[in-house]
Amino acid sequence: MNNSMEEEKRVFTFMQQQNCCLRCCFRFIGSKMSECFHNPVTFARNMGYIKKDESFVEKVPCMACLGILQDQMLESVTQEIQVEVQKQNYDSETFLCALVVPTCVNLRERILYVQCGLELDLSKDTLLCLKVKLQKVKDIWKSVVTSRLEQAICKQVDSITPSAFLIEIILTYKHNDKEYEALENFCVKTNNVGNKRKRKNNDNRFSRKSIDTLMARITDEEFNQFLKTFSLDVSTNIDVGNIVCSHSSIFIGGRYNKLSRELSQTPWFINGEKKMATSVQDLLCNPIADVVRAQSIKFLSSGREDVDVRNIYSGRPFAVELINPRMTKITDVLLTTLVQEINQSSKQVRITSSLKVLSKLDLKKLKEGENVKTKIYRALCVCRTMPENMLPFEQLNNLKRVEIIQKTPVRVLHRRPLSPRTRLIYEMRARGVKPQELKALLNTARENASMFFVLDIKTQAGTYVKEFVHGDFGRTKPSLCDILKAEVDIVALDVTGINLEWP
Ligand SMILES: [Zn+2]
Repeated sequence: MNNSMEEEKRVFTFMQQQNCCLRCCFRFIGSKMSECFHNPVTFARNMGYIKKDESFVEKVPCMACLGILQDQMLESVTQEIQVEVQKQNYDSETFLCALVVPTCVNLRERILYVQCGLELDLSKDTLLCLKVKLQKVKDIWKSVVTSRLEQAICKQVDSITPSAFLIEIILTYKHNDKEYEALENFCVKTNNVGNKRKRKNNDNRFSRKSIDTLMARITDEEFNQFLKTFSLDVSTNIDVGNIVCSHSSIFIGGRYNKLSRELSQTPWFINGEKKMATSVQDLLCNPIADVVRAQSIKFLSSGREDVDVRNIYSGRPFAVELINPRMTKITDVLLTTLVQEINQSSKQVRITSSLKVLSKLDLKKLKEGENVKTKIYRALCVCRTMPENMLPFEQLNNLKRVEIIQKTPVRVLHRRPLSPRTRLIYEMRARGVKPQELKALLNTARENASMFFVLDIKTQAGTYVKEFVHGDFGRTKPSLCDILKAEVDIVALDVTGINLEWP
């Protein structure tokens, strides 16, 4: 046996005498062979680390990992994960797992190194070399537990892609903070660290970062002094604090019509009270979220309509972010069924395209589309006055690329007062309204049809169309009133076209 092997064996034996489990003993000597973690007893026997002909019993819990790497706990944690994953019922065929190990394990590793260095009379370099080789508890845990877990939950681990389905196992130790508090108090008393740790919001818990700082500042000699003043609890196991399953968001998109003049884009709450029974978001997104069993949703659309504005014809592009969905295998059949269901369940909205599962690139397009697209509107307008020098409506058809300057409209001034913006009206088409048509539009025959006209207008994105028509107390220049030389108001507005290739 050469020197380094001899030394490894001495360290191994020392760690074992301190009641470390075999897996931890192998961790401490920096063993890289997976076999020693999968079959630690056999491997240790073959290496001559433990006696061949004696039955081997490990003390529980291990001094270093507090049971995390011991068979009993590996088994029980695997079972708990299995129960939780089955309960949550995700359809993902792959998974990724993350283990959060409480920091009390770092404290124990440090204690063991300090004691090992002193007892075995190791040089500083040798000790440093050992510390560098140390394998992390969570890495060993993953390498041992992965295949068991794959069988238990019938999913394959995928850390390359990586899998969008994450299982987080958060382990806790009830004396964790108490131990660090003792160490911190020791440091303050011996004046080795400056001031006592600043506590944010009276939070007494130690962050990982503050523990790292504390551990980095204290020397091995000081640490050894600390150990003489403090008796470490060696009988308490780690607990499973929480098992959290989550799947990254999926996005589904399409185009929709809004066919009601009494429907808001998103649920409207005042003091926690829902002001309108439903919304575009509820009607479009809730059925999708229900089917994929998402935890919550975010509604994304390329712009929006006011409550009293409809959008008709090809419809407005939208996407819904489905947060933490349980069901992710989405077929075209399912999407088609969803379109039918949504369209049958409401007269206020309608999906006008097929639905599609979206990529990141698609989403970028939706966001960019908000700025570059042109929009087409149809407005029913009324002339409150019809002076003699008024321009006939039809003359509007000859105007192209009219530049207007709009100050933030009075109705949105409380939300976002911005500097005046310049927008282009690309073209307009105006025509008179027939009496029957007006009757259908307004549900009354009393109005004088000659005062009304229908305006089709193509604008640059971001134009306030209502304000362009009535002028908004002179805040939009020129307005349709200015151009026609008459007092014009808008009765009803529809969005009839949004130029974006979607979905
Ligand atoms: Zn251990």
